Amino acid sequence: MTDREKAIVMAYTEICMLTGDKFQVFHKYIEDILGRPVMTHELAFLADVIKKRSKADFIELCKDGSDSIEPLEPEPCGDAVSRSEALKKFTYNHKGERIPDYDCDNFPVQIDIKTVKEILRDLPSVTPQPKTGHWIDDDGDNAICGCCNRLNHLYGTYCKHCGARMKARDEE
Ligand SMILES: [Zn+2]
Repeated sequence: MTDREKAIVMAYTEICMLTGDKFQVFHKYIEDILGRPVMTHELAFLADVIKKRSKADFIELCKDGSDSIEPLEPEPCGDAVSRSEALKKFTYNHKGERIPDYDCDNFPVQIDIKTVKEILRDLPSVTPQPKTGHWIDDDGDNAICGCCNRLNHLYGTYCKHCGARMKARDEE
């Protein structure tokens, strides 16, 4: 990978790949894509526009000869909806009052399959997100998953019950 290519990756991903004397290659690339001189202290404020302007170069870089690889885009997926949003539609009545769980008799209106289908069709498309959570300490030896509250015998990367990826303590 050339320094110029590293500059492209660095611009698009914000992962630092050029330091010391090589930083000027990155700086020059930024000035090229912005079409103007850029002061070093400006770079932090320009992260968004740098990402946008370097995107085409980054995608070009990802292409492998004749096989063009379409990078994954965090765009809404046509067939994906949010489970929690769907449940909300059936958890609150039209006045916004919560319908108690499992209290089907209290459901304010009879709802037919046609309406259920309409509600599900009207939900906006979302981008699926990885399921993540934190370990909850259980006196050191065992780990409780913060997502499903079940016991794991080791503090691993994933909960073996629900598959959630466990984040580090300082990770948001
Ligand atoms: Zn779990």
